[in-house]
Amino acid sequence: HINKEITLYGWVDSRRDHGKIIFIDLRDRTGKVQVVFSPDKKKIYELGNKLRTEWVVEIKGVVKARPKSMENPKMPTGKIEIEARGLKILSQALTPPFDLSTDGKDVKEEVRLKYRYLDLRRERLSKNIIYRHKIIKFIRDFLSAHGFVEVETPILTKSTPEGARDYIVPSRLEPGKFYALPQSPQQYKQLLMVAGLERYFQIARCFRDEDTRGDRQPEFTQLDLEMDFPTQEDILGLIENLFKRLIEKIYPEKKIKQYPFPRISYEDAIEKYKSDKPDLRNDKNDPNELAFAFVVGFPLFEFKKEEKKWGAVHHPFTRPKFEKDETIEQLIERIKKDPGKSFADQYDFVLNGCEIGGGSLRIYEPKLLETIFEILGHKKEDIAEKFGHLLKAFKYGVPPHGGIALGLDRIIMILQDEPSIREVIAFPKTGDGKDLMMNAPAEVDEKQLKDLHIKTLKS
Ligand code: ASP
Repeated sequence: HINKEITLYGWVDSRRDHGKIIFIDLRDRTGKVQVVFSPDKKKIYELGNKLRTEWVVEIKGVVKARPKSMENPKMPTGKIEIEARGLKILSQALTPPFDLSTDGKDVKEEVRLKYRYLDLRRERLSKNIIYRHKIIKFIRDFLSAHGFVEVETPILTKSTPEGARDYIVPSRLEPGKFYALPQSPQQYKQLLMVAGLERYFQIARCFRDEDTRGDRQPEFTQLDLEMDFPTQEDILGLIENLFKRLIEKIYPEKKIKQYPFPRISYEDAIEKYKSDKPDLRNDKNDPNELAFAFVVGFPLFEFKKEEKKWGAVHHPFTRPKFEKDETIEQLIERIKKDPGKSFADQYDFVLNGCEIGGGSLRIYEPKLLETIFEILGHKKEDIAEKFGHLLKAFKYGVPPHGGIALGLDRIIMILQDEPSIREVIAFPKTGDGKDLMMNAPAEVDEKQLKDLHIKTLKS
């Protein structure tokens, strides 16, 4: 573009005055370029003199090669500059509450979250969001090429057990009734297998109302998938291949420690690494080392001491491991007799000591599923009320099926070398579930509550 006249739009990133000459770095999502205002173009120079950081401008100018001695090898655009010929100030800006030119790690997180739209202007954050897009796009393309169909499932739905508390939404039309926000699309994806869709995926939002525990968000994103007639290896092999390709394409500087990813049994993981999510890296300080692994063969149930009852290690839809030549009747007898001794066709996906996903082959026999619900302490009427739709669907010709869900926020966090998932989510909430920018949760009008047949008890 040397000597061409161009028009640029963007933000004033910084300004320097050198003697009489004014230098502006103009910034957009793709980078920065130096713009020069010299006093011989008096009108524009005077307007340029007013510019302050973060103002939004339109600049017309001519691209000039910088003299060799003035080149800046640190900037991709460092060999050129724009000689300003026209300037329009499109909007002015207050002084930002914090410096946007740093990585932001020195700024209090509450302030960053309150002004998230400014925080996202900093290069580190903008890069995280763009890489998030690249990763999700890669996943969509890869799975589409492998015959998967992306399907949206409802957000207003009924409780699905993933072991957390539900967020619930009151129904206006049916007083006293509530929807639940999905903890995962688990039941829908299984029903899509009954529907004959064969291979489903979704970049799915999940909602879990958990107490503040480490780096969690009340809503988070999963890559959720399900397929029919799979072996466990079909699912693990697909994920392994997906990640190998993804890393090669988007993070060529990173090295996968071992491929195929090791499959470690749950028992070995506990015995050898004292963890069901072992960190297999050689050098834990090297951000470019990626140690993926699958942990397989989990127990089916765990005993919950506080509630004095059995709980599912994964979720109730997980398939128990059959012993050799065992019939379903024999299996049911066996797990009823000694729930603690049965194993599941369940697997976790681990990266650098973090659990980044999990899944299982599923139960598709109604009577086995009923048995599991009974062992978990559900009464017969409850089972019909909560899971009747699934049990019924399984009576209309259900293919064996299985799947997995991956925690995308965590995966992107690790790949971007970030310490928290909040750094890779555009508008995250605080650890205690607040949106400091929108100020949510918030009170609502009396009228809204009345419409919903709700009275609140304020403590
Ligand atoms: N729904 C499960 C979860 O969110 C994943 C799966 O079993 O596919 O952990």
